[in-house]
Amino acid sequence: MKLSRYTLLVDDYPQKGECIAYHTRTQAMVRLNSQMRGILRRLASVDCLLSDFSPGVRDELSLLNEMGILVDDELQERQRLDDFFRQIKYEPNILEFEVTLLTTYKCNFRCVYCFEESVKDDISLDKQRSDMIIRWLINRIHRRGYRRLFLVFYGGEPLLNAEPIDYIGRILKHWAARNGVAFNFGIITNGSLIKPQLIDRWREIGLDSIRVCIDGDREAHNKKRPFINGAGTFDLIIENVRRVVDRVKVGVVGNFDKENLGSIPGLLDYLEQQELLYKLDTIDFSPIVSRLGGKDNPAAIELGECLSFFARDGMFDATMWLRRELIARGIDANPGMAINSCPLIMEDGGVAIDPEGVIYKCNSFLGYPEFSVGNVREDDFNYRHREFMEIEAWRRCPDDCPYVPMCQGGCRFFCYLENKNLTDICCKRGYFDRICPELIKLDYQREISKRENQ
Ligand code: SF4
Ligand code: SF4
Repeated sequence: MKLSRYTLLVDDYPQKGECIAYHTRTQAMVRLNSQMRGILRRLASVDCLLSDFSPGVRDELSLLNEMGILVDDELQERQRLDDFFRQIKYEPNILEFEVTLLTTYKCNFRCVYCFEESVKDDISLDKQRSDMIIRWLINRIHRRGYRRLFLVFYGGEPLLNAEPIDYIGRILKHWAARNGVAFNFGIITNGSLIKPQLIDRWREIGLDSIRVCIDGDREAHNKKRPFINGAGTFDLIIENVRRVVDRVKVGVVGNFDKENLGSIPGLLDYLEQQELLYKLDTIDFSPIVSRLGGKDNPAAIELGECLSFFARDGMFDATMWLRRELIARGIDANPGMAINSCPLIMEDGGVAIDPEGVIYKCNSFLGYPEFSVGNVREDDFNYRHREFMEIEAWRRCPDDCPYVPMCQGGCRFFCYLENKNLTDICCKRGYFDRICPELIKLDYQREISKRENQ
């Protein structure tokens, strides 16, 4: 028996001599006393047999083996990892099919970092294409046996072409009810066109939640996300959120770089003063990333300075600081440790469909047909899908990396931004080494407070 190479140990936490063990494949997290910590130290340096330990300790070690934290031997380690990747790649999660649908590429904002900037076009989803999308979705659900369909209407700004939301939502709601499939949808919107009447109407056909983007306090947000004519959008968005927050779940997401990061606490304070903060369903912030180049030259990466911000300590400091700002206000931030499986390399899983019916596996490639995996005119995915499936970047990672199950060789989109190809590894190991112990501590505290409040 030995320590799995995918086990992370956070020493002297929560008490001196104790430790938290976390497994990056199973996501099991367990607090160990100093005696067990000593045993793990021994197992890390020499292979031992279960029979080398007392019966009480053997039971605990067997439990740690079930959690993945310990393995019998190298063979079991390899077997478990291979099973894990096979499952991700080939075994669909039939419980839910999540599909992002773009009702238009048009937008009434001119966000400075818009990742669709180069592909924004006057193309909107019409009735004929909506019918084709509905047929494709129904066919796929039948073939794969999905039990739930969750649509996310997206754009451009999806409410600039709201008719397909009514049309597709109504048809699929009736079809789903007759066929024993659960159906709901959400909308990701810039927040400028939301109205209570629309929300009430869409709730009747399955609207579950909306997500609105706010990038900091009034000044910072208006600089990052103005209307096309340059006018500010902050006050209008806040007013629109106020009008609907009691009718539907509203999540706020924000994007940051070093310019607007410092304004986020100001936004949180303002939302609290306006009695909105604790009515929100979720609140989260992500870093602004570089984007692909023009339509004919995606490799001419734009906003490259965003990548250098991550390469230094900026990302670690920002992530930790933001988490602590949220936790200090009693907001339940998402778990920090997560498995990031790339949809590109999965046989099934979610897709994004643009207004022309072109299918993508990853939102970051929307608008670039060379990265598409099919079209709703055809049932099956194209050759690109098979090519993506064959990328197994994780096989190129060094054996001693404990993050392989959660990182899997890195995000394929980031790989393209950095290397102009989809196949290399895109390694952030230094960042993981720094941030993972801190995130594990925060996740542990989160679990403890959840249990105390039960
Ligand atoms: S609201 Fe979205 S689609 Fe519109 S400009 Fe901003 S980021 Fe781009
Ligand atoms: S890309 Fe780097 S951090 Fe990620 S699994 Fe490979 S070696 Fe580890």
